[in-house]
Amino acid sequence: MSNNIDNSVLEVPGPDAFQCGALITDKHRKIIYANAYFSDELNWQIETLVGKSSDDLFSYSSKIFIESYLMPLLLHEKKCDEIQLALLDGNNKRISIIVNAKMDDQGKIYWSFFNATKRDKLYEELIETRKKLEAQAKILHSMSSTDDLTGLMNRREVNLRGPELINQAKRYTHTIALLMIDIDHFKQINDTYGHLEGDRVLTELGLRLKTFGRQTDLIARFGGEEFIMLLPDTDANEASLFAERLHKLMSEIEVNNIPVTVSIGITMSDGSQNLQELTKRADNALYKAKSNGRNRTEFDQQA
Ligand code: GH3
Ligand code: MG
Ligand code: MG
Repeated sequence: MSNNIDNSVLEVPGPDAFQCGALITDKHRKIIYANAYFSDELNWQIETLVGKSSDDLFSYSSKIFIESYLMPLLLHEKKCDEIQLALLDGNNKRISIIVNAKMDDQGKIYWSFFNATKRDKLYEELIETRKKLEAQAKILHSMSSTDDLTGLMNRREVNLRGPELINQAKRYTHTIALLMIDIDHFKQINDTYGHLEGDRVLTELGLRLKTFGRQTDLIARFGGEEFIMLLPDTDANEASLFAERLHKLMSEIEVNNIPVTVSIGITMSDGSQNLQELTKRADNALYKAKSNGRNRTEFDQQA
């Protein structure tokens, strides 16, 4: 039988040609072979490496990891893949590496080391990018849910959060109060003292509502000079007292020494009506408050 093997193919370079570290240790983990990668890329002298314990090549924490995880795994499975460790180069500099290792029946270990510095850097960059994106998402969410001028929630956010608050009222069988608050003759303030003065009134009103409300209340600028409050676990009596205090609080804001007044429409709910129905009812009550002379609170008929 003729031998067809082309002998020139067998004349391949040895492990020194590989762009990764190759190391062999005996059963006592003494280095018996290290390829040229250690001298070319890791600043070790091969002669000083041979005879050393492979433990001397690793950082303190990697040594602990080898002892507690990698060795038991090798003894049990005879191999391990893709373990990230910190290797010390000949100048005692830490290099992040990925280790694959295999143990033979005599306890010799065949280690291969792949430089993971770039991978680490990429990973760090990814984490950094993720953090930035999360921060941006937070800002975007805040922008899309908050009213610029007053810092209160906007109408969009009320439409998102309101239904849950109403459902809670139903689940826990308590009543919820919805207040619609509208500044009286606000157009006059704008027309007489300018838009900026109008803005100041809106901002001050927003601030007061924010500090006045409870943590669980939903307070928002519903549009223009109209504000909405959803007060969970509140009955009609409490809502009426609350509105009274609101009138007082709002009159602290003055324009040209004249107190600002608001009209308030209230509707009560046991949670069986949706947000749209409730706002419509509160709007009717608000209309009543306006036509009954402003600077007052009215409940809608159902309350
Ligand atoms: P009423 O007592 O019946 O509520 O009368 P009003 O003048 O308060 O109500 P009207 O709806 O006629 O006017 C509301 C005004 O609110 C008109 C609008 O220009 C003004 N407005 C809406 N948004 C803003 C804002 O962001 N800043 C300022 N300064 N004014 C605003
Ligand atoms: Mg108004
Ligand atoms: Mg209005």
